[in-house]
Amino acid sequence: MTISGTHYKTGKAIQLQVEDGIIDKVKNLGQESFSNHVCPGFVDLQVNGFMGIDFNSGRLSADEVVSITEHLWHTGVTSYMPTLITNATAHIVQAIEAIVTACERNKLVNASIIGIHLEGPFLSKEDGPRGAHPLEHLKNPDWDLFVKWQELSKNRIKKITLAPELERAIDFIKNSVASGILVSLGHTSASEEQIALAVEAGATMSTHLGNAAHLTLPRHPNYIWSQLSHERLRASIIADGFHLPDSVIKVITKVKPESTILVSDCTKFAGLSAGTYTSHIGGEIELSAEGRLFIKKAPEMLAGSAQSLIWCVNKMIKSHLATVNQAIDMASVKPLEVLGKSAGLEKGKLADLVIFQKEACGIVVLQTYKSGQLVYSKSR
Ligand SMILES: [Zn+2]
Repeated sequence: MTISGTHYKTGKAIQLQVEDGIIDKVKNLGQESFSNHVCPGFVDLQVNGFMGIDFNSGRLSADEVVSITEHLWHTGVTSYMPTLITNATAHIVQAIEAIVTACERNKLVNASIIGIHLEGPFLSKEDGPRGAHPLEHLKNPDWDLFVKWQELSKNRIKKITLAPELERAIDFIKNSVASGILVSLGHTSASEEQIALAVEAGATMSTHLGNAAHLTLPRHPNYIWSQLSHERLRASIIADGFHLPDSVIKVITKVKPESTILVSDCTKFAGLSAGTYTSHIGGEIELSAEGRLFIKKAPEMLAGSAQSLIWCVNKMIKSHLATVNQAIDMASVKPLEVLGKSAGLEKGKLADLVIFQKEACGIVVLQTYKSGQLVYSKSR
């Protein structure tokens, strides 16, 4: 099979020859030009739900996991991490089982789910850092409990977000890293020393840096400055236009130009139309026409994100926070790098590809290929 388009970085016309889901040959087409561009598929390390389906509902089905994966393909996402947040143990177990069943039933879903991201329950109990995670289910790091979940998932838990200031957190980080799990700091109120210890123990990332924080912080030191200052910590950010002001995104991407990663952190309200909905964490919530998701009784409070990764890519481009190819890399190549995988339009790389067009509103996904198979094509 061959796929042609303008290379998203070089601007040159190329033809990719795909064999068994891998790019086998890249041919330069010289003078030819295409209005369609080609780039690596998007990779979202933080997906809580999509199109009305919530990974954390406590009654997730394998069919729903397949359905979310298919919806994500429509947005150019070829790989993602279902994100299980702090919840009753029975609900976490239930979600893991549904994800495993979906992966075992469907090869392309299995290839698309590059791991489960466990965001909790080992997080700060303080208001602010805790965010919307339910207080009653928060725990100190418990390796034995984690091992049970990891066994149930058949080693699919590949990323954990935790607060390093909690009891036994440093040992937990060491154990995780030794088992090949990416440790990300988040929902934390750690001191400068505690963050340094976590980095020394092997933590390599910050989860949605700048969010899940106190409304007021000491000017310095504080956990945002401290995390920014560690070169070994990559930063994931929710660049949906509502979670962080442009000035903060600008600073994070300037400090970490090679290691800032876009995540959607989208909830089940992503992909739905504007209106009022009910959420188990925030009561009545509203999704505005502009795409902001907030608590109806307290409109200044966000109720999570309702936007997909492509929205964040376009936000970065439209606000001149990144060039088109920088924004694409932050949502494709970079997140895979964190997991020790490589992507790109080169021989030997996975044929996870997006064909897109540049329009006034940003980039528009026309086709998505997963492992060399066409999984989405925009109807014209
Ligand atoms: Zn979070």
